[in-house]
Amino acid sequence: MFPCDNLKHLDKRYRTKYHMSMIENLENIKKLGIEEFLANEQIRWTCTECGGAICVHKGVCFNCGKKL
Ligand SMILES: [Zn+2]
Repeated sequence: MFPCDNLKHLDKRYRTKYHMSMIENLENIKKLGIEEFLANEQIRWTCTECGGAICVHKGVCFNCGKKL
């Protein structure tokens, strides 16, 4: 059954520590479809400074080190 206990546990940790939720992501994929979900994620995790990818764990850009 969705979400299983492992995912619930992980989700709670990520919501608290990293301000993101896998469960929310999965629900958004269901609601919006994968294409739109990915388009949103692309914006969300792209550095506004240099266009690099932002690290979910550190909250900083891998490329230039800017904080999210
Ligand atoms: Zn950057």
